[in-house]
Amino acid sequence: MRYISTRGSAPVIGFCDVLLAGLARDGGLYVPERWPRLADRPVANRGASATTSYAERASSIMAPFIDTEIDDKVFQRLCAEAYATFRHPDVAPLVEIGPNEYLLELFHGPTLAFKDVALQLVGKLFDYVLTQRKQRVMIVGATSGDTGGAAIDGVASCRNVDIVMLYPNNRVSDVQRRQMTTVDAPNVHAVAIDGTFDDCQDLIKAMFNDEEFRDANQLSAVNSINWVRVMAQVVYYVTALEKLGRSAVFSVPTGNFGNVLAGWIARRIGANIDGLIVASNTNDNLTRFFESHLMTTNAVVPTLSPSMDIGVPSNFERLLFEMNERDGVITGSQLSEFRRTGKLTVEPDVYTNWITGVFHGHRCNDDQTLATMADVYSASSILIDPHTAVGLTASRAHRLANSLHDQVIVTLATAHPAKFPDAVRRATGQTPVLPAHLADLMDLPERAVSLPNDLAAVQAFVASCR
Ligand SMILES: *Cc1c(COP(=O)(O)O)cnc(C)c1O
Repeated sequence: MRYISTRGSAPVIGFCDVLLAGLARDGGLYVPERWPRLADRPVANRGASATTSYAERASSIMAPFIDTEIDDKVFQRLCAEAYATFRHPDVAPLVEIGPNEYLLELFHGPTLAFKDVALQLVGKLFDYVLTQRKQRVMIVGATSGDTGGAAIDGVASCRNVDIVMLYPNNRVSDVQRRQMTTVDAPNVHAVAIDGTFDDCQDLIKAMFNDEEFRDANQLSAVNSINWVRVMAQVVYYVTALEKLGRSAVFSVPTGNFGNVLAGWIARRIGANIDGLIVASNTNDNLTRFFESHLMTTNAVVPTLSPSMDIGVPSNFERLLFEMNERDGVITGSQLSEFRRTGKLTVEPDVYTNWITGVFHGHRCNDDQTLATMADVYSASSILIDPHTAVGLTASRAHRLANSLHDQVIVTLATAHPAKFPDAVRRATGQTPVLPAHLADLMDLPERAVSLPNDLAAVQAFVASCR
């Protein structure tokens, strides 16, 4: 399997190079040159047997994307190691909370957010590939909260990796910040930027677009623009459907469009997905696109679901590339137009072909988020986090608006409630308890650097970390 860029002019490369590159040289994102078919997967791995583990299913679902670049047995071992770090034996358990209403719990990994599902595997892959190649890289990333801790946990023990993680100062929760700043490893650097998540993401993009700097510092990325993360997220859509034994709509709390894009890919390769609900908080650029063909950028406002406080959803580029029949030139010019004017629109027939009946946009404000958290707690004594609540609110609105009584809707539960204790307390009066392995998180000493929203300052810091 070879990988091509959504902007059409970067070198065509294989899986391991895509893993290490993150962003393509032409500023685009890598996608596989063709979509494999789930139906080609060996029957033995399709979960016919209840004893097939998540890791086994995962390695067979992802195998066509890796192709011959990593030996099958090695890849199976890396998947087994990555998913052994999860506290739940199912890794991604499916929990029924009402008639045809499910939560897919993706927060049983080390840092309590769904990002662990991809980043634990990414860490194992980096370690393996870099050791094979006798190479060292500098991972730089931006986080709206959860990527930072998950990326750091995924790679902290890699011998060949340094990591610099930018986060928007005062816009991540205490738990999220501490998961980055309390890691006592010399190769880990958490940096508070005086700006928003989009500012952080722009700084990362600018470092990648500076080729001289990028090469001199061996930059690499594990943000959700990294193909391997999207690939690893395809897995749980497929395993959830195998467990259900019937088709479903998925409701996905969305920020950078990575998770819901993985759902689209699962559907594209043959999973029985009836639809994808793109659930946003008040930062609803995506929702507005899925309602109106038109994406505009509004200023980002802080909400109770900070990991979704994103104005420019990077992974949308991969869907746009598909909508343009994989024309990288058109995709590139639409995106530079978007940068320039803050507006992106697609032709009505393109919209009808690709979006209508597949994607459904819904937004949810903080009051609705709190109301859903309170409602779930009073109905079933389950505490859910505010991101999950955005997804569930959207799921319920979608069911009601379309009278979908018999439709299974699975909401992706993207974070553990203890990651957002203030919101949970406000909604339910209950204080969620951190799992035992994080019990001392609030007492550990913190280590972080503060930098202005300034490219030169950030570049100088990154260079000093090598
Ligand atoms: C990152 C994150 C999201 C948004 O996911 P995207 O892939 O960026 O759309 C939603 N919820 C939580 C808890 C997250 O950490």
